Amino acid sequence: MKITHVETHAVRIPLKPERRMVSSLGRHEVSEYVLVRIGTDAGIDGVGEATVMPRWSGETVWGCKALVDHLFAKVLVGCKVSDIAEIERRMEAVCKHNWFAKAAVEMACWDAWGKIVGRPVYDLLGGACRPLTFRCRFSMGAYDLDRARRTAAERVAAGFTTIKVKVGGEADDDLLRVRAVREVIGPELNLDIDANCGWSAETAIRKVKTLADCRLALVEQPTPDGDYEALARVRRETGAVIMADDMCFDFVHARELIRNQACDVINVYPGKQGGLARALRMVEFAASRGVACTIGSNLEWDVGTAAMGHLIVACPNMQVERYPGDSLGPIYHEFSIVQKPLPIIGPLVTVPSGPGLGIDVDWAAVRANACPST
Ligand SMILES: [Mg+2]
Repeated sequence: MKITHVETHAVRIPLKPERRMVSSLGRHEVSEYVLVRIGTDAGIDGVGEATVMPRWSGETVWGCKALVDHLFAKVLVGCKVSDIAEIERRMEAVCKHNWFAKAAVEMACWDAWGKIVGRPVYDLLGGACRPLTFRCRFSMGAYDLDRARRTAAERVAAGFTTIKVKVGGEADDDLLRVRAVREVIGPELNLDIDANCGWSAETAIRKVKTLADCRLALVEQPTPDGDYEALARVRRETGAVIMADDMCFDFVHARELIRNQACDVINVYPGKQGGLARALRMVEFAASRGVACTIGSNLEWDVGTAAMGHLIVACPNMQVERYPGDSLGPIYHEFSIVQKPLPIIGPLVTVPSGPGLGIDVDWAAVRANACPST
């Protein structure tokens, strides 16, 4: 089961108008992805997804495609798809960082390996430790009050029990938004907020304390990237349950978050962590230090979302029951480019039990939606 060739396909999918995201990073109206297709001498392909979002991760479709085509493909041909450690080692040897690009390659290897041996990826990762269907929260953009109220009511009617609201910025309009959503969803359901690094420690502490009456279940990434002490201070001074996301890519970041007692939960995703194996190691390290993990998202498409699901199903410390995560990327987009879209009903995502990631890409649709600038 050796790698014979590596292809890349950049695609572009618009978000549904009603799902367009607004956060402290700006507006997200179109998603761009690079699909990596790995061929093997067994005649079976694997596919992985790089969910690139330059403002969030620094990676682009052009950079990702060039890296995979010109660096990774050259060192990976001849490598066994099941030798994930060697695949990681070869990519690390030729390129630092670029976690989403590396994850796409690694994900494609797990997919090909699973398809060749006829087993789902969660089985290769250690076996299912929870049901294949899991519950997500709904992540709402930083909308105006009317739209926030309307979206919250719709999503609760659709069965969601946790709503996350995007906040961030120095102005206090986000406090009104959070309060409006709490009024609409009633006192029982969970309400999370996510500032995407948009607040200083002082602003975060003031706003979280002001929102005490809203009984926030969780405060996600309130303070800037790289500032462990700021996050730890918000946690200490507000007593809120703190989730780290946008500042945790590498293992060193997870170690520093935990060493600084900066968070209660780490948001982990195969793309951000550079692959399923790296994500699994981070989740297990966090477990050994008593820190929970759950799933986070960059609005992945079906391949990336399936990979997230396999990690959740295989990993006890992906505590999605206690901290429902974000794994609904496909429902934000106008259309799907797989043969059979991932089953997502309201807040419930079901991980495919077929071989590999369990996703069959519609390559004609991929070509029809090629990213025009690549
Ligand atoms: Mg987040």
